[in-house]
Parts: sequence; C-alpha cells; structure tokens
Amino acid sequence: MAILVYIENTEGVLKKSAFEVASYAKAIADQKGDTVVALSIGNVADAELEKLGKYGVSKVLNASQDNLKNFVNKAYASIIASAAKQEQASIVVLSNSFSGKGLAPRVAAKLDAGLADGAINLPTWNGDSLEVKKTAFSNKAFATEVISSANKVIALNPNAFELKGAATSAEIVAFTPDVNANDFAVMVKDIVRATDKVSLPEAEIVVSAGRGMKGPENWAMIEELADVLGAATACSKPVSDAGWRPHSEHVGQTGIVVSPNLYIAIGISGAIQHLAGVSSSKTIVVINKDPEAPFFKVADYGIVGDAFEIVPKLTEAIKNL
Ligand code: FAD
Repeated sequence: MAILVYIENTEGVLKKSAFEVASYAKAIADQKGDTVVALSIGNVADAELEKLGKYGVSKVLNASQDNLKNFVNKAYASIIASAAKQEQASIVVLSNSFSGKGLAPRVAAKLDAGLADGAINLPTWNGDSLEVKKTAFSNKAFATEVISSANKVIALNPNAFELKGAATSAEIVAFTPDVNANDFAVMVKDIVRATDKVSLPEAEIVVSAGRGMKGPENWAMIEELADVLGAATACSKPVSDAGWRPHSEHVGQTGIVVSPNLYIAIGISGAIQHLAGVSSSKTIVVINKDPEAPFFKVADYGIVGDAFEIVPKLTEAIKNL
C-alpha cells in the first residue's frame, strides 16, 4: 500500500512543508510497511524533486503541464484525488497551509474519506482506524480525532513535525492527470510576489509587534531585528486595522496562525485573540514595559522594559555574535 503526499512549491522550489509531510507520511508508512508516493503539481525540476528521497519518498508523480503552473483549488483537488486512486493510496497527507486548508476538504469529499486537519503529531493505529491529535477552537485546545473510514486525509500543521531523514531514492514519473474543463472554471492567470521577505506562515522565527510601538514610523527597528535573525515580521490586529502594517502580517484568531520555533512579541499585550494564533510557537519571548501584561503568562522568556531601548540593543548584540 502507498501513502500519497501532496507537496507544495514556491516558484519551483520545494517548501519546507513538502519535507515535513514527506517525513510525517514516512513515519506512518513505517508502522505498516507501506511506501510513500509524492505528488508535485506545477513546474518543479527533477533535481529538486529528487530531494524528497532523503525524506522517505520512493516515487514522485510530476504533473508539470503548463495549465497547472498556478494554484487552482478545484483542479488541484481533482488531481490529488486521481493520483490517490491511481496509486491505491488510502491515506493522503498534505500541509495545513493556506492552499492545503482549501484542498483538504475537497480531496476528502472526492475520496469519500474522513478528514483530520491541523494534525500536530504522529497518529496511532487502532485496528484500521487512525487516531490523530490536532489543534481545535482556534488553537485554544487539542482534540483527538479517530478516522475510521477506509480512505483518510490528514492535513499537517506547518512546523509541527520535525524533518526526519530516510535514505530512499525517489523515482520521478510524469503524471498526466485527467482533469475536466469545469475544474478550470476559474483560472489564476498570474501571481506576482509582493515581497521577497520570509513568508510568515512558514517562518521559523517571527518578530511581531503591537500597539506599544506607537506608530508605523517606528517599525524600522522591528524590521532590522527581523533581518538580523532571518525572521518574518508580524503584528497584532489593531496595528493592521490602523494601517500601520499590511493585513498579511496580522496574526491571531482572525489572522494568520503561526507556529515558529521562536516568536518574539514586542509591545503586544497578549489578548486571548492574539494568543490563539501564536500559542503553538515552540519558544515565546515577550518584551513589554508592563510587568502585568498577560503575554508574560505564556512566555518562555520575558523582558520587562521599554521596547525603544531594548530592541536596538538586542539587534546590536545579535549582530555582534
Ligand atoms: P494593546 O492591547 O494596546 O497593547 C499594547 C501593549 O504594548 C501593552 O501591553 C503595553 O504595556 C505595551 N507597551 C506600550 N508601550 C511600550 C513600550 N514602549 N515598550 C514595551 N511595551 C510597550 N488581536 C490580534 O492581535 N489578533 C487577532 O486575530 C484578533 N482577533 C480579534 C477578534 C475579535 C472578535 C476581537 C473582539 C478582538 C480581536 N483582537 C485580535 C484584538 C485583541 O482583543 C486585542 O485588542 C489586541 O490583540 C491588542 O493589540 P496590542 O497588544 O497590539 O495592543
């Protein structure tokens, strides 16, 4: 039996999540002696796809037709489902990314499969059922779901599962999916990248700031700290509502959910709606002048003090490392 993973790329370069879903599927496959087949959609070079072998993928289906270059939810879901049928894969794993969140329910519906989205650790078998631990209620709780259907779809949270090497060699096979015109009823003509900065949902380090920064003119120091750390920048909701920062940086219950290795919160009070989007970060550092700020309750490290003094010193210290 095979497990199918759908792997994502950005402009031909595999995303970190591609290796995460491969490692995750390999760990599930090893429990039953199954193999892992990956599906790539879009233009990714063979040399890039071969990297998946290092994470336990033994075959890569490469759907590289011109009309598949840009993400189209309906068409991509059909292709994933048809690849699963071709490979007789009863488990499909994808990333719970922006696109994964749209794809997972469609794929599950097409395969008549049970779906667990937001998975955070390796599932366990209970007979033919899989028990999956996942985040629930905007990251405020965990839930364990049992998928008992024959076909199963799991959407893995980004940064939730560590990469695990496995010396497999991946065979690349061209895949010509059978998609119908209706799948392309809406086409994405072009995608223009707005910034070259680290992508927030996948960032390993996030430097985030709130209303304590007083105004947009003070963000240079946040960006400088992010630059020296190779981090993405983020902000609280009132900051993006006020137009100090773009909405694409707003994290929290109504914004982006992040789970980086390091989240640095500067001048953010730590309201429950903000924490909902960041609480699964591995390490949280809080800088706030108010020692009673709620964020300190969930912080691993905290600095009580004025961000305008601390942040430049921190940046200098990191530069001198
Ligand atoms: P404030 O609460 O004003 O906090 C500013 C902090 O900066 C304070 O703790 C202060 O001590 C500190 N500070 C001030 N000056 C300095 C200084 N010089 N140095 C260091 N620290 C300083 N919010 C989100 O962020 N994300 C969401 O997704 C979200 N969704 C929401 C959904 C709903 C339905 C509702 C009702 C609210 C939502 N909110 C969300 C808003 C949330 O409740 C808070 O109002 C918001 O998170 C507060 O933002 P803040 O911490 O930047 O500002």
